[in-house]
Amino acid sequence: MKKMAIVCSGGDSSGMNAALKRFVEYCIRKEIEPWFVHDGYEGLIDDRIEKADYASVAGIITRGGTKIGSARSKRFMEAHYRKQAIANLHARGIGALVVLGGDGSFRGMHKLTQESDLAFCGIPATIDNDIAGTEYCLGVDTALNVIKDAVDAIRDTASSFGRAFVIETMGRECGYLALVSALTGGAEMCLIPEIPYDLNAYKRDFLREKAQGRRYFIAIVSEALKKSEEVAKWFEEEVGIESRVTVLGHIQRGGVTSVHDRLMAYRFVTHAVDALLEGKKSSVICYNDGGFEAKHIDDVASKQYSIPEELLSLAKEYGSE
Ligand code: ADP
Repeated sequence: MKKMAIVCSGGDSSGMNAALKRFVEYCIRKEIEPWFVHDGYEGLIDDRIEKADYASVAGIITRGGTKIGSARSKRFMEAHYRKQAIANLHARGIGALVVLGGDGSFRGMHKLTQESDLAFCGIPATIDNDIAGTEYCLGVDTALNVIKDAVDAIRDTASSFGRAFVIETMGRECGYLALVSALTGGAEMCLIPEIPYDLNAYKRDFLREKAQGRRYFIAIVSEALKKSEEVAKWFEEEVGIESRVTVLGHIQRGGVTSVHDRLMAYRFVTHAVDALLEGKKSSVICYNDGGFEAKHIDDVASKQYSIPEELLSLAKEYGSE
């Protein structure tokens, strides 16, 4: 019987538990022994690897985060620790590893594919949605829904009190969460690193709207810009409206997994296990235009993600002439 393991690495995202459940159940269906690696690459180095079964994944589909833990590992950057990790998999007769993680985790997985004869398959899982080669990463929909709930709630107080609210979203260097949240949350302002912005154009519009009776403003600002406080000050000084900053922070990583992410977890994992069974040794499952494809890790790791032009063009209307 073949043995496959799964690990969650880097920043956790909602949908990882749904992926673990599908992994265990699909492996058993395919007569493969499923194994869990606990606590990311740290657990891989320290041999925190255990056999999984139906009981291990019972009742976890609704929960955000990951039952098997995730971690960042400085040691994994060093070749001799990766050698130890590979030896641990060999010692247990595990021939393949599914890696749920973001771009850092895939850079680590890339090294493993170069340094061992084992098979690896990545599943993009990060709320940042910043992995090259795929338009969707597991957990993004749940994060967007968490942000939507927060923006809707803030709108209630903003409109009652007549204030400007600057809402800072996560995303590291990528403005995807901020952009989609601004478009779907009815925000008046959207600032992301991918689009140059002109505060003077915003000022002209906002002053006119204020004169016409607008009582409040919602601005969504990506954490990548590190400008939230500055923008709040700008509202007070240039637009003449009291303002507050709300940094949404880690609530965006958690929450009950959305239907979309549960289904995507199911599909990503099925494609990953199938790719490994087909003999692919160095792939990442990517989702584009409604379909899945196992791309070579060379085409994913170390490449830069960019937000689709069509989405960007919608956001370019913000603060423009
Ligand atoms: P994410 O996967 O969410 O982007 P990180 O960027 O923190 O999270 O990466 C997760 C882990 O992947 C790191 O803690 C490290 O162990 C491993 N990793 C990242 N880059 C490399 C690299 N160049 N070589 C080896 N391992 C890496």
